[in-house]
Amino acid sequence: MLKTHTCGELRQEHIEQTVTLAGWVHRRRDHGGLIFIDVRDHFGLTQIVFNPATSPDAHKLAYDLRAEYVIRVTGNVAARPAGQENPNLATGDIEVYVTHAEILNEAKNPPFLISVEENVDEGLRLKYRYLDLRHERIQRNLTIRHRAIKFMRDYLDARGFIEIETPILIKSTPEGARDYVVPSRVHPGQFYALPQSPQQLKQLLMVAGFDRYYQIARCFRDEDLRADRQPEFTQLDLEMAFPEQDDILNLIEGCFTELVKTVTPHKRVLSPFPRLTYDQSIARFGTDKPDVRFGMELIDASDIAGKTNFQVFANVVKAGGQVKAIRVPGCANYTRKQIDELTEMARAKGAQGLATIALTAEGIKSPIAKFLNASEMNALTARLNAQSGDLLLFVADKSKVVADALGALRLHLGQRLNLAEKDLLAFAWVVDFPLFEWNAEAQRWDATHHLFTSPKPSDLPLLDTDPGRVHADCYDLVCNGYELASGSIRIHRRDIQEKILAILQYSREDAFARFGHMLTAFEYGAPPHGGIAPGIDRFVALLCDETSIRDVIAFPKTAAATDLMTDAPSEIAPEQLKELKLQITNDK
Ligand code: ASP
Repeated sequence: MLKTHTCGELRQEHIEQTVTLAGWVHRRRDHGGLIFIDVRDHFGLTQIVFNPATSPDAHKLAYDLRAEYVIRVTGNVAARPAGQENPNLATGDIEVYVTHAEILNEAKNPPFLISVEENVDEGLRLKYRYLDLRHERIQRNLTIRHRAIKFMRDYLDARGFIEIETPILIKSTPEGARDYVVPSRVHPGQFYALPQSPQQLKQLLMVAGFDRYYQIARCFRDEDLRADRQPEFTQLDLEMAFPEQDDILNLIEGCFTELVKTVTPHKRVLSPFPRLTYDQSIARFGTDKPDVRFGMELIDASDIAGKTNFQVFANVVKAGGQVKAIRVPGCANYTRKQIDELTEMARAKGAQGLATIALTAEGIKSPIAKFLNASEMNALTARLNAQSGDLLLFVADKSKVVADALGALRLHLGQRLNLAEKDLLAFAWVVDFPLFEWNAEAQRWDATHHLFTSPKPSDLPLLDTDPGRVHADCYDLVCNGYELASGSIRIHRRDIQEKILAILQYSREDAFARFGHMLTAFEYGAPPHGGIAPGIDRFVALLCDETSIRDVIAFPKTAAATDLMTDAPSEIAPEQLKELKLQITNDK
């Protein structure tokens, strides 16, 4: 190696040793006589000192050193003078007196500083991603990512899972997004699809008799632009033969709990992970990806509200809707303007408005008080378990609107009031989803999870009579309000798979053209099987306290699916188009 130690390695025990370090000029301070430089590599920083009296040549060279020059220095490790130690730096007890220095490579003045993380435009960071990646924070994030993935591999290996790679050039595997497609040169006019997930292949591995499969799998989904989605992302994809739902839940719960303890021990995990049915999750939190780090749950007051003289409440309940509320602690004195903001938020989710009851020190303040008698008011505040100082927010509407509006207000206020413990990773399972969702626009059923998900066996008869009431054998893992994983027990019988495809309005021919290999495979002794696929990017972002998954991916794309560093996507040469027998039209 060109060096004897890393820049994060030297301690008191190295004092008086001669060492050679190599790295980047991080920061330079010229104190007239002595020149101090922090030299940086992946492992950390070391302060090196150039003394004109003892090493004039090295000191002369130090004049020329600029930020991000790559240097190599040899020198003697010394204790820092008393009082000048830096307790925030791992190497802060020592410094290295340079006897010999050389420049391995010069550097242009970088477009942004590496030594301090400024608020730099993300476009510029992504264009010069190799410089952005030099920031200590991102180096740390990618190291945590590596450790997390290694932990998963070891954990699964110890439990009999084997990693099997599946192809990237395949046929469409729908997960609810558009496919990225790749034209075939050898078969003009024909296309591969990039996998939205390895779903079909992992199921076929179970048919093939592999008992437990996993893969750190890249998935590709061409979705409309959303701030925090990546067109390609990574999942821990796994599948087991002959499992029951609990086997998969317990496996992931064990893996993630142990992983957090090992990789980010300062984080706390709820144990065991709470389990909610889909219906409970919607009822209590207004969403199927609840943030269970704090309470402020949605409370149903329809029975009380429906009997009052407040027509808005009474009419909604009569029409089969709901009146629900959240109790916001300590916010009874919110101003008119603050309440208006919350009302706007509720409206954005489809609510007609927001009814409030504030329990102020001076008594109850509420625009709806005049419609309620004292016992009704008491019953409502008692239902919400309200204390002095609380603000109660009511939404009356169809159940979906109530859930959406109060769910959004709950999240917003939870954040605003800092109710979530910072280092808590609150995993929770959501189970018993409906198998289908009604797509009103297209007037048909869509699969809630994906079309290979098994209906609950007890609900099979409902497939013919009332598909909307069929529950799925599937489960989601959520954490701090994010959906981290989806999984399910799969269909392993051809007749049931065909029935699901028919309900999803695939014609027999179309079903066979697209999924014939699955239908056929199910006829050759497919075992019951099931699995799950946690998304690694979001999970690592949570471990690293990052809000953007781009900060835990080495070379991410923008929200517009472009790579600003390599300038992809880009046009291809006319000869390439010709070879592929493709023509670009400008049709809208
Ligand atoms: N393939 C599914 C997904 O990507 C996960 C699973 O069912 O295992 O969401």
